[in-house]
Amino acid sequence: MTEPAHDQVTATAPAGRRHRVVIIGSGFGGLFAAQQLKKADVDVTLVAKTGHHLFQPLLYQVATGILSVGEIAPPTRLILRDQKNVTCILGDVNKIDVASKTVFASAGHIRFDLEYDSLIVAAGANQSYFGNDHFERWAPGMKTVDDALELRSRILGCFEQAEVTEDDEERRRLLTFIIVGAGPTGVEMAGQVAELAQHTLKNTFRRIDPASARVILLDAAPAVLPPFGNKLGNAARARLEKMGVEIQLNAMVTDVDQRGIEVKDPDGSVRRIDATCKIWSAGVQASTLGKMLADQTEAEIDRAGRVLVQKDLSLPGHPEIFVVGDMMSLDKLPGVAQVAIQGGKYAAKQITAEVEKGKSPAERPPFKYFDKGSMATVSRYSAVVKVGKLEISGFIAWVMWLVVHLAYLIGFKNRLTTMFSWGMHMGGDHRSQLTSTQQWVYGRQAIERVAAHEKARSAEEARDRTVETTSIGD
Ligand SMILES: Cc1cc2nc3c(=O)[nH]c(=O)nc-3n(C[C@H](O)[C@H](O)[C@H](O)COP(=O)(O)OP(=O)(O)OC[C@H]3O[C@@H](n4cnc5c(N)ncnc54)[C@H](O)[C@@H]3O)c2cc1C
Repeated sequence: MTEPAHDQVTATAPAGRRHRVVIIGSGFGGLFAAQQLKKADVDVTLVAKTGHHLFQPLLYQVATGILSVGEIAPPTRLILRDQKNVTCILGDVNKIDVASKTVFASAGHIRFDLEYDSLIVAAGANQSYFGNDHFERWAPGMKTVDDALELRSRILGCFEQAEVTEDDEERRRLLTFIIVGAGPTGVEMAGQVAELAQHTLKNTFRRIDPASARVILLDAAPAVLPPFGNKLGNAARARLEKMGVEIQLNAMVTDVDQRGIEVKDPDGSVRRIDATCKIWSAGVQASTLGKMLADQTEAEIDRAGRVLVQKDLSLPGHPEIFVVGDMMSLDKLPGVAQVAIQGGKYAAKQITAEVEKGKSPAERPPFKYFDKGSMATVSRYSAVVKVGKLEISGFIAWVMWLVVHLAYLIGFKNRLTTMFSWGMHMGGDHRSQLTSTQQWVYGRQAIERVAAHEKARSAEEARDRTVETTSIGD
């Protein structure tokens, strides 16, 4: 990482128009940056490929039927309705041209571009399969609303199919759920799938006993919740095991197919676990926009595709471009919501100071992250919390988790309905969001097939055109 070397004042706009800030992404980084610019004398355009702000930490509750999509993913334009200096645009950014300071995007078949004076890139990260992208087909991850709905339908679909199959082996396969990755998301998912099977679905089937479902939490690492340390990791593990979740550590997934996974143990032996439903929560890869920026500047990216930013979260030689949140790499900061929120706000503050007070980028203070701690739920009434040296597990940790998540949910109405949904869940494990459809299970694969077909057709058409041009030229 290089030190900031900003000697130019970039925050000026030609006379007659206001400074233009383009923000890519409506997640934690993008949204909080936009809100921080509320009173600034700038025009903000927030462009994101989803029209909502997604509260990712609660996605697992959508996947397991506790919360509705609306509760954790309110439309961004409604959140920012009263902020007159912001325009929200739905668009998938496919190119950033650093030289002309232009962002290129598309919404469906409509292409458009946005010029900027300052750019905040907060496009987050995707699931990583560590080079085995074919695993995704049978072991989807959980990063988006679509992912959560697909997983919900896959989980519930397995119970439905298990009820009707006459084949014992197939029933066992359908009632085996594997969660790969024992980080916070994996732990939360394992706990919730177990509770769903043992409590919510109790007495709802006539031929199968949902409680007989096998839930396996598996990781190549030797511990559960490694970032939380041994004490909390062991507490989470003990709680999950008490709920009947099988924990398999030091187990490396070497293959995934429709009917199960292949696992390599530390002694080198390879074994197979049959399971229809596999859930991947094992790694992240930053948005490819990071590499695009690195290719045009002197910035570098790390193995996870994150941009090595300078102390002021900007790119070397480009004080007008900030990269924040899951896309940035700085001082080994974790990919968590608070890093994105504080990074987005910091970038917005620097822009405001330079536009309104004529400050230069060279005067920027370095970004300082304030660690507010981390937390994860294990089951109803049980969580782990780590704040500095303080480590708490169990019921008190769960109450803290509840309060913090309610505080950070966007919108009063959402907080109210979420409290109601949680109330129902706590008082008897009722889940009001157990709708599932076949389209949610097969939609992603169908779209991928159509896209592959379209790509092949375009390539064929381009080939035909080349042949035609050559023969005319001849
Ligand atoms: C399941 C799950 C659970 C989590 N739990 C926790 C937790 O308990 N605590 C915690 O602190 N953190 C948690 N995290 C991590 C946290 O959610 C992220 O660190 C945080 O969301 C990062 O914010 P961001 O703004 O960088 O990216 P994101 O919030 O991912 O937002 C990215 C935005 O960019 C948009 N985008 C992406 N590509 C493009 C493109 N090409 N063009 C236009 N727009 C684009 C997306 O639509 C989205 O709006 C969790 C993450 C997941 C997936």
